Amino acid sequence: MAERVKILKNARVLISNDDGINAPGLKRLERVMRKLAREVWVVAPETEQSAASHSLTIRRPLRIRKVSNRRYAVNGTPTDSVLLGIIQVLKDNPPDLVLSGVNCGGNLGEDVIYSGTVAAAMEGTLLGFPAIAFSQVNSGRHPVKWSTMEKWLPKVLKGLVKVPFPSSVLFNVNFPDIPASKVKGIEVTSQGRRKIGCDIQSGVDPRGDTYYWVGPQRIEDKFRRGSDLEAVNRGVVSISALSTDLSHTGSMKTLKEFF
Ligand code: MN
Repeated sequence: MAERVKILKNARVLISNDDGINAPGLKRLERVMRKLAREVWVVAPETEQSAASHSLTIRRPLRIRKVSNRRYAVNGTPTDSVLLGIIQVLKDNPPDLVLSGVNCGGNLGEDVIYSGTVAAAMEGTLLGFPAIAFSQVNSGRHPVKWSTMEKWLPKVLKGLVKVPFPSSVLFNVNFPDIPASKVKGIEVTSQGRRKIGCDIQSGVDPRGDTYYWVGPQRIEDKFRRGSDLEAVNRGVVSISALSTDLSHTGSMKTLKEFF
């Protein structure tokens, strides 16, 4: 099933994220989308869920809190939010497009494995809807350059809605950490290499027990041409295609030589 968003200005759009219902990136995405689409609905986690990946809450009840007109908060993960958004909030009027973000910080390389932002979009894909994840790269401790995404997102989106979305595929967009006027363009990229989680700090808590804390440092390859990391590093908006089918067909051949 290849799905295409017909006309953006007639579209009903569901927005979620992993930074939570009060995140600045979500509010900015809503604002941008209100100008581009007919109906904008938000169903997002109550609290920040960064690095929640695709976790689904199954051992406790979920609640949907109506915040205001067409805005809802869910006391769960990004996946819970999109699932309830589509199955419950929009059950009589399914969305034409599911958007996630805009995340505060990039989702590049292996980040997509841990990312709640990507997972929210992916949940839309798994339910059969065209979906896109958006992230604004922020590589220092300076204020996030939201104006870069505000300027470039409409351009990216107007292009992407013309593309047929293959079933089980979502698009992952990252805006570079430079002023909007300095952005050099938009490029299609592949998933780069950027492993987080190896920078673990340990210490002793006030009660005398040892703790471990995963730090922000990553092992990354910023220079592999054609990768998402290299593109944003060069000042380009990166668009990559991700699949929910994690099968690696090349390795199946190798496996079959042994079994
Ligand atoms: Mn986040």
